[in-house]
Amino acid sequence: MHTIMASHAGFCAGVKRAFKIAEEMAGQPSKWYTWGPLVHNQSVVEYFARQGISAVEDIDEISEPAGLIIRSHGVAPEIIQEAENCGLQVRDATCPLVKRVHEIVQVLADQGYEIVIYGNPEHPEVKGIQGWCGGQAAVVSGLDDIKTLNHSHRMGIVSQTTRDEKEYFEVVKSLLGRTEELKVFNTICSATQLRQNSALELCQQVDLMIVVGGEFSSNTTTLYKECLNTGVRTYLVQNAGDINPHWLEGVKMAGITAGASTPDWIIKEVLCRMTEYEEKDIQQEDIQQEVQDQIEEQTQEPVQEPVFEPQQEEPGSNEQPAEEANEESFARMEAEMAEYETPGRGDVIKGTIVQVLDDEVMVDVGGKSEGVVPLRELSLATVDSARDLVQVGEEIEVMILKWDDDGTILLSKKRVDSKKVLDELEEVFEKGDTVQGTVKDIVKGGLIVDVGVVGFLPASHVEDGYVKNLEEYKDQTFAFKIIEFNRNKRRGSQVVLSRRELVLAEKQQQKQEFWDNIQEGQIRLGKVKRIVDYGAFIDLGGYEGLLHVSELDHKRIEHPADVLQEGDELEIFVLGVDTEKERVSLSRKKLLKSPWEVALETFQEGDIVDGTVVRIAPFGAFVELDPGVDGLVHISQLADYRVEKPEDVVSVNQPVKVKILSVDANEKRIGLSIKEAQREMEQEEVEEYMEQQE
Ligand code: SF4
Repeated sequence: MHTIMASHAGFCAGVKRAFKIAEEMAGQPSKWYTWGPLVHNQSVVEYFARQGISAVEDIDEISEPAGLIIRSHGVAPEIIQEAENCGLQVRDATCPLVKRVHEIVQVLADQGYEIVIYGNPEHPEVKGIQGWCGGQAAVVSGLDDIKTLNHSHRMGIVSQTTRDEKEYFEVVKSLLGRTEELKVFNTICSATQLRQNSALELCQQVDLMIVVGGEFSSNTTTLYKECLNTGVRTYLVQNAGDINPHWLEGVKMAGITAGASTPDWIIKEVLCRMTEYEEKDIQQEDIQQEVQDQIEEQTQEPVQEPVFEPQQEEPGSNEQPAEEANEESFARMEAEMAEYETPGRGDVIKGTIVQVLDDEVMVDVGGKSEGVVPLRELSLATVDSARDLVQVGEEIEVMILKWDDDGTILLSKKRVDSKKVLDELEEVFEKGDTVQGTVKDIVKGGLIVDVGVVGFLPASHVEDGYVKNLEEYKDQTFAFKIIEFNRNKRRGSQVVLSRRELVLAEKQQQKQEFWDNIQEGQIRLGKVKRIVDYGAFIDLGGYEGLLHVSELDHKRIEHPADVLQEGDELEIFVLGVDTEKERVSLSRKKLLKSPWEVALETFQEGDIVDGTVVRIAPFGAFVELDPGVDGLVHISQLADYRVEKPEDVVSVNQPVKVKILSVDANEKRIGLSIKEAQREMEQEEVEEYMEQQE
């Protein structure tokens, strides 16, 4: 079940003002009374009774020096006069909109108009208006009453402020035939109409309506009837305790509205109670958030009710619409009221830290009550002690979670922080910006990412392709795009993230940079990505180049895997670049010394070295000294006698000892001699023998 609050509900501006004045008087040493109940709401009456303010219906009921508060309905001037004559102090809390009606009828009476009041003759407001025109006004409550009126030369009509506008206009129309001159004043306050309209709108979305307010409050009962008439199941409750859980069975969407005399604290209680009935698997935290959002929605909604200030214009003048003329006065009234509002559950207030313990923080939030922030409600981060986070004297913003019976207020800083983070993330989401976050956990279908609040990164959005092992992302910090943001989401994450687009963009940029910078002849650092039969693909940072097997080494390599392994890092020579086909050919061989370069460093003229006959020609035999390095033994150097054909002396693959006669680096030629090598070796043997003989 989901609960929605009507956009206009609860205290109107006039009642708020009267409430504020009564609270102000409750703090005074002298005794105060109200003329009749301050509002038609038992909780409010009891609230003031506890503070020593009781209601009277007659001045005679007051026998002591005291004060009298005139409620928002207003009274006849005689009652004020009588109270003052009895030595009572008077605080007039008449709603300024009602006062305006008093002024209108006064002027009409002075100018000799026959006055008609459209309203309930028994309603205190109507009785009060009558008093302001000398009791001469005729009260009509419907079209039938018009027939009883005598014809009059000049008539003026006003309405009780809480009546229905359409019905009033019907009455005005029917009055036209009974007078030559009719002055009409639209004195209807739209507070009631606004509450009715928003309740009716809500009825279209819900399958159950709860109307909160006193059973004797006329605007509350009107609201109740209007909702009932829509066919939606509707209940009138005075407080949260009246809600019967059975009403909510099978209800998917419930609406709440409240009459203009219903105080905020009762509305909040009802709202909280309704959320408690919501589905069991919804986490408590989510419920709190919703309550807060709805309360915020209420408090942040611009007031559109009519505004007023004491009428200066002639009766009948309609040069200045009432709303416009009274804007300043209404705004002032609202501002004054704000000072007197008691913060309730879900409200965010400021406080100063007065004590820090390991597991809780005491906060001075003004007034008489103390606020406590338990460690679990202190921060979005997990900490072992509150001392690690805050200190005495620090000013913090906290949300009220609960008022305890002993006056202690349970507070949360975490929820305020969470709201701020969500505000920032919402801005990031709307602007399409990125947010930094750290991967905290791996769950089914993706990763949990800390972006100030818990975000979800679906596995398909981790990279631009399939990721086999998500574990390697844990504890890593990345930039993310927010692809889904829903602060009211009650299941799953409010923030859904993606890296896919960013990874693609980064790769595209790297690729562009790669093709802008790569050139033939460069030596680059690369990493072996893949080995295939014909070579290896080398990652050059954003793009891969091919290292063909023939470019691996100067000597013949059977298979690339004989010299390379995947993951090897190596320096590589750029052989060729084809930007159109996006191909790069690489060489490792180019960066290795050629066998000849090695030979030049290794072999010196006069050295006697081992070799193998690899080829025989008519003019001599080729002997391999090192792989790829051959020397020629000319036929004249094969033996110390005349050789007709080299095959007579040597054969292919025969190991031989040769003496290096010459090394020509430019021509890459080495001259060898078997004959010289043998003679020298024999000489050495002889010398060795002679030495042994001696
Ligand atoms: S006139 Fe309107 S604002 Fe004034 S008390 Fe009545 S309903 Fe409230």
